[in-house]
Amino acid sequence: EAIDIKEVLENVVERMQLRAEEKGIDMISTLENNVPFLYGDGMRLEQIFYNLLENALCYTEKGTVTVDLKLESEERVLISIEDTGIGIPAEEQPYIFERFYRVEKSRARKYGGTGLGLAITKELIEWQGGSIDMSSQEGKGTRFDIRFPIIPDEKEEQT
Ligand code: ATP
Ligand code: MG
Repeated sequence: EAIDIKEVLENVVERMQLRAEEKGIDMISTLENNVPFLYGDGMRLEQIFYNLLENALCYTEKGTVTVDLKLESEERVLISIEDTGIGIPAEEQPYIFERFYRVEKSRARKYGGTGLGLAITKELIEWQGGSIDMSSQEGKGTRFDIRFPIIPDEKEEQT
């Protein structure tokens, strides 16, 4: 299935806009035009960005959540989701993609959740041939970089 990744991101951002407004968080998206179609499963891609945006909004008390889409190279698209939230302590960062892992119990109680979101998100990304990287500073914010390969259209190559 050929996926318009920009459209997927626009839809997910729109679905989360009300939640951002209720929390007083500015959600900004900077989505490049003319990013080539990706091949994959549209529902899964929506789920990936829904999970990441849900976390960004959940673990941010004030400031901004930014969604950025660009063509990183001829073979790759880069989607970044960045927030100005509570961040993840350095010593916990290696574990956040593990199933049922939740940062520090006191915090976990405040925010609820099951600790499955990121584990599933990472699996879905890798299923589509992509990768996810995180960088975070406690008290400052968190950024996730998601990369997907652009697979040349077979039909185009044959002609
Ligand atoms: P759920 O399964 O309902 O999503 P969850 O949000 O606790 O529960 P994950 O989405 O897997 O679980 O995230 C794991 C942990 O990583 C979270 O408990 C949270 O502490 C931390 N985390 C994830 N995203 C962020 C973020 N954007 N900012 C700060 N901490 C985050
Ligand atoms: Mg979550």
